Amino acid sequence: AKYVYDFTEGNRNLKDLLGGKGANLAEMTNLGLPVPPGFTITTDACRHYLAEGSLPDGLEEEVAEHLAALESRMGRKLGQADDPLLVSVRSGAKFSMPGMMETVLNIGLNDESVHGLAKQSGGNDRFAWDSYRRLIQMFGKTVLGIDGDLFENALDRLKGRRQDTDLDAGELQRLVETYKGIVREQTGKDFPSDPREQMRLAVMAVFDSWNAPRAILYRRQERIPADLGTAVNIMAMVFGNYGDDSGTGVAFTRDPGSGRQGVYGDYLQNAQGEDVVAGIRNTMPLQELERIDPNSYRELLGIMETLENHYRDLCDIEFTIERGKLWMLQTRVGKRTAAAAFCIATQLVDQGLITMDEAVTRVTGDQLAQLMFPRFDSGAERQRIAKGMNASPGAAVGKAVFSSERAVELAGQGEDVILVRRETNPDDLSGMIAAKGVLTSRGGKTSHAAVVARGMGKTCVCGAEELEVQTAERRFTAPGGVVVAEGDVISIDGTTGEVFLGEVPVVPSAVVEYFEGDAEPADDLVKAVDRIMRHADGARRLRVRANADTPEDAARARRFGAQGIGLCRTEHMFLGERRQLVEDLVLATTDEERQAALDALEPLQKADFIGIFRAMDGAPVTIRLIDPPLHEFLPDLVELSVKAATQEATEKDRRLLSAVKRLHEQNPMLGLRGVRLGLVIPGLFAMQVRAIAQAAKEVPGARPEIMIPLVATVQELESVREEAVKILAETGVDALIGTMIEVPRAALTAGQIAESAEFFSFGTNDLTQMTWGFSRDDVESSFFHRYLDLGIFGVSPFESIDRDGVGRLIEIAVAEGRAARPDLHLGICGEHGGDPDSVHFCHDVGLDYVSCSPFRIPVARLEAGRAAL
Ligand code: PEP
Ligand code: MG
Repeated sequence: AKYVYDFTEGNRNLKDLLGGKGANLAEMTNLGLPVPPGFTITTDACRHYLAEGSLPDGLEEEVAEHLAALESRMGRKLGQADDPLLVSVRSGAKFSMPGMMETVLNIGLNDESVHGLAKQSGGNDRFAWDSYRRLIQMFGKTVLGIDGDLFENALDRLKGRRQDTDLDAGELQRLVETYKGIVREQTGKDFPSDPREQMRLAVMAVFDSWNAPRAILYRRQERIPADLGTAVNIMAMVFGNYGDDSGTGVAFTRDPGSGRQGVYGDYLQNAQGEDVVAGIRNTMPLQELERIDPNSYRELLGIMETLENHYRDLCDIEFTIERGKLWMLQTRVGKRTAAAAFCIATQLVDQGLITMDEAVTRVTGDQLAQLMFPRFDSGAERQRIAKGMNASPGAAVGKAVFSSERAVELAGQGEDVILVRRETNPDDLSGMIAAKGVLTSRGGKTSHAAVVARGMGKTCVCGAEELEVQTAERRFTAPGGVVVAEGDVISIDGTTGEVFLGEVPVVPSAVVEYFEGDAEPADDLVKAVDRIMRHADGARRLRVRANADTPEDAARARRFGAQGIGLCRTEHMFLGERRQLVEDLVLATTDEERQAALDALEPLQKADFIGIFRAMDGAPVTIRLIDPPLHEFLPDLVELSVKAATQEATEKDRRLLSAVKRLHEQNPMLGLRGVRLGLVIPGLFAMQVRAIAQAAKEVPGARPEIMIPLVATVQELESVREEAVKILAETGVDALIGTMIEVPRAALTAGQIAESAEFFSFGTNDLTQMTWGFSRDDVESSFFHRYLDLGIFGVSPFESIDRDGVGRLIEIAVAEGRAARPDLHLGICGEHGGDPDSVHFCHDVGLDYVSCSPFRIPVARLEAGRAAL
């Protein structure tokens, strides 16, 4: 096996093997840019070392050969006493993990070669001793595992109030002795003076740093696979710490914050790379280099242009100037903010560097989502009191209130409020609508609060478990004895899950104003978003629909680009004042009572549908027949029992109690809901179908689609379908009739079900719940954090589709459904419909559309375009 590549042998496509830094150093070398010579030890060698605990056979010989070649090129040997070659040993994994792994500079110095270095630098003793003390400090900390503060403190004591550049050669020489003493004291051994031994130990330390705790944590957060390993780059040292004619800096080819072209970066005179990052002295803006060293500055600008044209993207760069000579130490395609990503992509199109197709693939739905929410001003001062789950993004500020009634009341008086609950239930809907944001101490990302808030585009932080919500006392307590009472102002950040005391200032989103149609594309960012969205729309195959239950949501969804409604949850129309009617229906014991309740509901339902059909203006509307888990609709058993035990209980209360007892279920989510309820309560579904048909008659061009929830077997579907077909025929209205696929059995018998369904819509919330056996209301706040820590999955399956399990069921249902009915129309309406990765999955398996909350429609449009390119 070949474990070592000279910089002249690699290229930028070899990131798996050479890591990002090594691959790009090779690329720059081959472009003819001034890169100090060197070589890269592959990630293969690292993986072998980490697995076996020893360097692979042949590696040391290969390194020796490459080092010999480097020495003959440089005309001096590593650590040579009278004229030493020094090298740096740097980590570099496939994905950049800034600052997470190790680097050692100035390898090759010892008590003899430090004099050689001084002599060769024209008697610059100060520089030589400064380099030596840096080696012992970095080597001691990263290779020998000595507490870095011991070195820092010794340096601070020596400096006093001076800067490090004020130390003279004699002082630095004494510091070297102090440092050597620290090494002896901490390890029981002398600092290794053999240059080859220094290099060998440094290479192993870099390999080991792959598994340093902070590197592991970073990988988990960034979803970087744990088994990639890092490469090691060994490069001839160039020195930014010679004197004022030398220095080191970082630069971007354009502003990573705004995307604007120009000269962005920092420069530090008389310093080595680690000083910039560590911030030991104030850097100067890169522009000032023009004054200090105009030749190097001009050369640097030229190289930046070469790199941008070559990589066709924003690059970031590390460089060093050694006595007026510029050296490139690193480059990579640079990280950037969401706003910059959009601006840069379209600028590169205008410069003729990339196509519009490429521009669309250079931005992500997550970046677009970030641009859509008002955000807290990150520069503002703020006091964080808790952190929960970032359930629905945005920034909300208001007075804490602890009940829906109070929320509605205060909002009615023009106050901004944040509804704070232990958890929410459908009764809180009015309060959630009234509030600027919702904060709960329990429940995960698919908890009621989270789903509903996302649907409304309302900021929500859920499962903030550090908070103790005392609803009755109208207050909550946070760690550190903070007590927030009703009326106290708090700020919640749904993008990060953070909760702050007091008001944090916010800045609104121009991108949403544009989607709302309120603003012509005016600023550069909105213009860029507009161009990219148009191109994505032209490219995508998937259509995008909305989950919407009210005419207002439907209208907004339409403005955001929805091509129909994929899920209208009719149980959401039965809340508030109408809940009483549903209660009457469920509790009816005679046919007359039941009919009276249905008769009362029908005109209300008809009016609901008319509103939605009008808002959708001829686009298809999928109406799901009622699917209420009964525990969300009936009064609480405990409360009723308590009440019934007192004198105040009425006859009705007692009847209610016995009915609730009769209907009480241990597992309501697996209980009497969906099609099961429709089959058990005669007339319920028929009433809804009649209301749909009559509404459709009144709105010209209306395109209703009737959807049956929670079907597990075709027999359930057939009996509902028969009744619906009859009603439609009587009213003379055309509507597709289809089913949700939410139960694994439905997916597995899709061939049979398709005989009776003109469309399928995958209800991946329930399908995930039932495939994994995870309660969607509970698991995210109970044990998912542990599962995520253990790496059992990298992301909750309720958030992003589990391709291997749930995805497999969907594939089966698509194939067998289409085999039975070639023109079967296929969509998804679970929360996954607005998740970027899941949209790509839906494209891959050949669905016709995705349906998601109105606020996620632009994200789904963009990702559907990206999936098609
Ligand atoms: C689903 O289960 O994915 C779905 C859309 O239905 P609901 O969330 O209303 O159960
Ligand atoms: Mg469902």
